[in-house]
Order: sequence, then structure tokens, then C-alpha cells
Amino acid sequence: MAGRCSVQVPAPFEYERATSVDQAIGLLERLGSSARLVAGGHSLLPMMKLRLANFEYLIDINPLHDQLGYIRVGSDSVRIGALTRHRELLESDELASAFPIFRDAERVIADPVVRNRGTLGGSLCQADPSEDLSAVCTTLDASCVIRGPRGERVVTMEQFHVGPYETAVGDDEILIEIRIPRRDNSGNAYEKVERRAGDWAVVSAGAAMWLAADGTIADARVGLAAVGPNTTGIPEISATLRGQVPSEQAYEQAGVIAARSCDPVTDQRGSEDYKRHLADELTRRTLRKAVERARS
Ligand SMILES: Cc1cc2nc3c(=O)[nH]c(=O)nc-3n(C[C@H](O)[C@H](O)[C@H](O)COP(=O)(O)OP(=O)(O)OC[C@H]3O[C@@H](n4cnc5c(N)ncnc54)[C@H](O)[C@@H]3O)c2cc1C
Repeated sequence: MAGRCSVQVPAPFEYERATSVDQAIGLLERLGSSARLVAGGHSLLPMMKLRLANFEYLIDINPLHDQLGYIRVGSDSVRIGALTRHRELLESDELASAFPIFRDAERVIADPVVRNRGTLGGSLCQADPSEDLSAVCTTLDASCVIRGPRGERVVTMEQFHVGPYETAVGDDEILIEIRIPRRDNSGNAYEKVERRAGDWAVVSAGAAMWLAADGTIADARVGLAAVGPNTTGIPEISATLRGQVPSEQAYEQAGVIAARSCDPVTDQRGSEDYKRHLADELTRRTLRKAVERARS
């Protein structure tokens, strides 16, 4: 139709299948910012089709699934390889037992087609402010293991996300693994409000609670998605809840802080006020559920 332009194919690019992590890092080092890794491709390829991103080389890391697609549940921590797919996170009973928040979140992420291919690493590296798994990892105080030509380094989620669509992973580096510490007497939960099933969040919240032997709150974390430039942890909530007895009054305090501390914008998904209301309500609900799970 005259005057309309609908580009649905990406610009030409060279394609290379990775044979090992080190070989992929070598390629990234040699090709620099003209190259990009492709994992599930569910964020990168739509952006390339829309010409929002253009890369001369794509390095496909899917052949590394045997090395980077795993969930290792230990007594002190859980380690998840960056190429672990949404479906694998959803279906792992071991992971759901250690951190039920993953299954809560995966149940409301996209659809089976996306979940069959999309990966934890791709989700975190895309750094979309509405990303559910980033909010989950922020809530759980996860660390990210990044490998490059100069070796391996470990960063917190706060250090990992440096801005919307921007992470601490350099052009010649690969996110390898997510590490999540395990502590006794803990519970966690995730809730999302979406306009229709499988859609991106209007707002979503994760909460994690760690209880002391006397039943008071030893520590608490809340992570919100879609209400700021990145998925955000809210340290003021942790500071306020520590030492309190879990109660509706405590959850209410946390909800008020969440609504005040987040930074939503009015868009087609809802008004700023509505999103602040959701941040408040979802914070209360997930904290309540996290405590129920910690006690059970
Ligand atoms: C229709 C649709 C609905 C969706 N709905 C939701 C939703 O409700 N909630 C939600 O959270 N997400 C949603 N998503 C996004 C989905 O979760 C994607 O799978 C995810 O964002 C990207 O993962 P991927 O493996 O496909 O990454 P890719 O698209 O392959 O890569 C994304 C970016 O990460 C980089 N990258 C990938 N892996 C690594 C690595 N190991 N190290 C360094 N860089 C890496 C790539 O170079 C690229 O820049 C949706 C996607 C679609 C298409």
C-alpha cells in the first residue's frame, strides 16, 4: 500500500554456530561490536526484523546447550546455566521446590513457543525493564557469572543492569551462569498483572522472605518490573521489614514504600497512578505468600 512500509526481514548478516564458550568469546573479541550472540532469538530477531538493531555477525550459542543449559540445586546455592530455557525453568520440580518464584513467573511469561526457545541468559541480557526473570533474580539476590578474554567475574544484579537494554556484559563477554544463595526458613513468590494472557507485565512484583528462628523477619527483598528504567530492588523495604513480625501492617508499609519508590510512566498499558497502585498491591500479596511458603 502506498505510503506504508513494513520491513519484516532483517538486514543481511553472517551466521556462525559456536562450538565452545572459548571459541564464541574468541569470535566476539575478533568481531567486536559488529557481532552479537543469539540464544533463543525471541528478543534479538524481532529487533533486527524491525531494523531497531543491526549486526553484521550473529554467533549462535544454541549448540552450547549441553554446557550452558542446566539447573544445579545444591544445599547452599542454586546454579542455573545461561542457556537454560523458560520451559526448563517452568518444568523443574527441584527448582520449584527451592525457589517457587521461578514457576510463578514462568507460568505467566509469554506462550509455549517463546518458552521453548527463550533463555534465562537472553532474558537478563536483553535488560528490558518489563523482564520477569530479571525481577525474579533481583528478588532472590542472584549473582551473574560473566566470562570474557580476561577470565571470569561475578556481579550482583544491581551491577549487572546498568540501564534499560544495557548490561555489564562487554562486547567480548558471555553471561555464563546465574547463582542464587539458599538460606533456611525462606519463601518467595511472584505475581504479575497483564492485559491478556502471555502479555508483558503492566506491573509485576517478586518478594522473598527469610524468617529468623523466633518467627521475625530476618531479611526481605522485593523486585518490581515495568515500573522503572530497570527491574528494581527496593532496599528501603528490606530495611523496614527486618526485625518485624510478619503481619498485614508490615506488608502494608512495604506496599506504600513500593508505590512511592518506583518510577512508572503512563502508556498504553496503564496510567502512572494505576501502576503505583499495582506496585503497592502486588508487593503486599507476594510478601504475604512468601511468608506462607516460608512457614510451610
Ligand atoms: C511474543 C513474545 C512475548 C514475550 N513475553 C514476555 C513476557 O511476558 N515476559 C518476559 O519476561 N519476557 C517475554 N518475552 C521475551 C522472552 O522472554 C525472550 O525469550 C527473552 O527476552 C530473550 O531471551 P532469548 O534467549 O530469546 O534472547 P535473544 O533474543 O537470543 O537475545 C537477547 C539479547 O541477549 C543477548 N544474549 C543472549 N544470551 C546471552 C548470553 N548468554 N551472554 C551474553 N549475551 C547474551 C543477545 O546478544 C541479545 O542482545 C516475550 C517475547 C516474545 C517474542
